[in-house]
Amino acid sequence: MKRIILSVITFILSFIVVHSQDIQNNSVEIKNYRRCATTEYMKKQKAINSSLEKQIQQIEEFTQQWIKNNPTESKDKTIITIPVVVHVVYYNSAQNIPDGRINEQITILNNDYGKLNTHSMGVFDPNLKVDTELRFCLAKRTPTGVYTTGIVRKQTTVNGFTDNDKVKHTSQGGSDQWNPNKYMNIWVCNFSEDGLCGYAQFPSSPLDNNYGVVINYKYFGLSGYQNAPYNLGGTTSHEIGHCFNLYHIWGDDYGSCTGSDMCNDTPNQAEATYGNNSGLLTDACSGAPKGIMYMNFMDYSNDITYSNFTPNQKSRIQALFTTGGPLVSLKSSNGCTPGIGAGIDETKDIGDFNIYPNPTTGSINVSLALVNTGDVTITVSNLLGEIISKVEKQKISSINIPIDISTQSSGIYYVKIQTASETLTKKISLVK
Ligand SMILES: [Zn+2]
Repeated sequence: MKRIILSVITFILSFIVVHSQDIQNNSVEIKNYRRCATTEYMKKQKAINSSLEKQIQQIEEFTQQWIKNNPTESKDKTIITIPVVVHVVYYNSAQNIPDGRINEQITILNNDYGKLNTHSMGVFDPNLKVDTELRFCLAKRTPTGVYTTGIVRKQTTVNGFTDNDKVKHTSQGGSDQWNPNKYMNIWVCNFSEDGLCGYAQFPSSPLDNNYGVVINYKYFGLSGYQNAPYNLGGTTSHEIGHCFNLYHIWGDDYGSCTGSDMCNDTPNQAEATYGNNSGLLTDACSGAPKGIMYMNFMDYSNDITYSNFTPNQKSRIQALFTTGGPLVSLKSSNGCTPGIGAGIDETKDIGDFNIYPNPTTGSINVSLALVNTGDVTITVSNLLGEIISKVEKQKISSINIPIDISTQSSGIYYVKIQTASETLTKKISLVK
């Protein structure tokens, strides 16, 4: 519910974090956990950066205006896929989580932001659970255009980070952020405060070199280290919600019913909800018949309870990706497109692949035999990943084709052969 202006909310936020650690609900012991440090972190950021408050206010005004101009749920069914880079900053092998857990977390994000989890909406209208039309992929190209798995692994001498952002900087024992206008950065590390699950930075304009989320490795992905009730990947879905300008559903007002998450379709709520609730749950701010929306991702419920983002929350997210919004460039990022070098050393259905002469003075011949007849695309790219020549052939078993790159400057180029199931790349030198 919209009740007070943002500045008042954020002033109140400073009091909630400490108190919330002591809240218990439904007999679930939570005092050793701190679900999210974002509120406290944001207060510190505003103290460091005097312009941040104004930036956040401007984004809020932009968001509210966009929602006013687009009063119904966005009907734009164009899915936005955000390239993700996961920085695994580890002190020991347990913290160096395997690729499998990272893939699990990406799947969880896509399920949660795509309305694909099966968790209940309790007594609420199922239409309050929406597909945000946001998806995530592990990046397939680095900022310089080279193929990547989207996972950066950095060993560190720091065994336990805090919310001081050192994990985001190589010079301070962490891993430098990738361009936030092209990638969503997720840092996975150990926290010195064992029960802290994670924290996030709200969007600013422009985005700065701390934008992203930091997640305790114990609460990331599914398999491996199990930390019920926060062992199903819900922490990352919650924290990315903050990166998408979503506030805690109870408005961070510590029970007063005056705070707001700036959404009209979430019930007024007194304070954070913990545990695994079901059915109707009321509090001092919301009574029957619906009660509070404890299953919303921006509450503090157990991972197994997390279910939905509402239409208004979706609108807040979508506004960020529109012209003038702080995340508009993420929408057109090519980070999910494989970079140079993808698939090198794979030999599945291409029999022979030769380029001659190499080095060349301008004309090359690409010779290729397919084990099975099929379609093939040959591209030549420069070091920037720009395609300078492209040839497509259909239903062939072999090919011998000349390609002229004599108009290009001397240097290194990549010839990529793509079939339905395979990609091979070779490097050539142009010497003029
Ligand atoms: Zn939070």
